[in-house]
Amino acid sequence: MSRRSSRPRQTSATSTRIAPVTALAPASPCPCGLSATYADCCGRLHAGAAAPTCEALMRSRYAAFVVQDAAYLLRTWHPDTRPSVIDFDPAMRWVRLEILATTDGSAFHTTGTVTFRAHYTDNGRPDSLHEQSRFVRHEGAWVYSAAVFAD
Ligand SMILES: [Zn+2]
Repeated sequence: MSRRSSRPRQTSATSTRIAPVTALAPASPCPCGLSATYADCCGRLHAGAAAPTCEALMRSRYAAFVVQDAAYLLRTWHPDTRPSVIDFDPAMRWVRLEILATTDGSAFHTTGTVTFRAHYTDNGRPDSLHEQSRFVRHEGAWVYSAAVFAD
């Protein structure tokens, strides 16, 4: 999920924001779609727990877009492809994540892919991002490398 953050922007007003700006109660349903609370699901990863699989990292990165945790997105992005800042689009609201397929990406692998559709609204207009993301291990931890395809 990098397309939106790499799109040129007219304003840089939000680009220096680091701390999460969208509060999410620990007991809230996790935005990634699993039937767990945010605290027990992606919130654990945002707080520092390691993602066991590429899918878990993908879910937690989607959830980080929801809560606008730029620091988490940056530290789970491979340094070779990581942008200098995460630029959240204030007109976007992430609605729902669908995981469509995964390859490799378990404790026994060093690479993996996750194909997903992330639903959002842009100024209230429903749209979605369909992407296959590639993940690699970097210093032992899963990190997002790049989009294999995105449409
Ligand atoms: Zn989650």
